[in-house]
Amino acid sequence: MADCIFCKIANKEMGQLIYEDDTVAAFEDVDPQAPVHLLVIPKKHIERISDIEDGEDAALMGHIMVVANKLAAEKGIAEDGYRLVANCNEGAGQSVWHVHFHLLGGRRMTWPPG
Ligand code: 5GP
Ligand code: ZN
Repeated sequence: MADCIFCKIANKEMGQLIYEDDTVAAFEDVDPQAPVHLLVIPKKHIERISDIEDGEDAALMGHIMVVANKLAAEKGIAEDGYRLVANCNEGAGQSVWHVHFHLLGGRRMTWPPG
């Protein structure tokens, strides 16, 4: 989608990818909230988690989990622990309208999240 910042990053019109395959891309969050803070996104423009449908989208989300696990291992946070977070809609803190999973690690996480 033309005006979407994450579509532009996925298309390499801006920013720097640290991972990509046919359907998924990942990059560093511009405002990191932990020593490791990556964003893992579908290349397909989907606005929010609640727009995900069964079938193709569901398979894509499963693949994102697999990619996130690999990235966590590569970044050395897999054993200590990491958090994979997706905010859906403004009340949950969503500010970019292209589905993304925050992969956070490298520090002790607290619960419940704020
Ligand atoms: P949300 O608030 O939607 O859950 O998460 C959006 C995330 O995108 C935030 O953590 C924010 O720092 C990050 N972000 C916003 N704009 C950019 C950008 O242009 N480049 C990168 N790398 N991250 C961004
Ligand atoms: Zn997009």
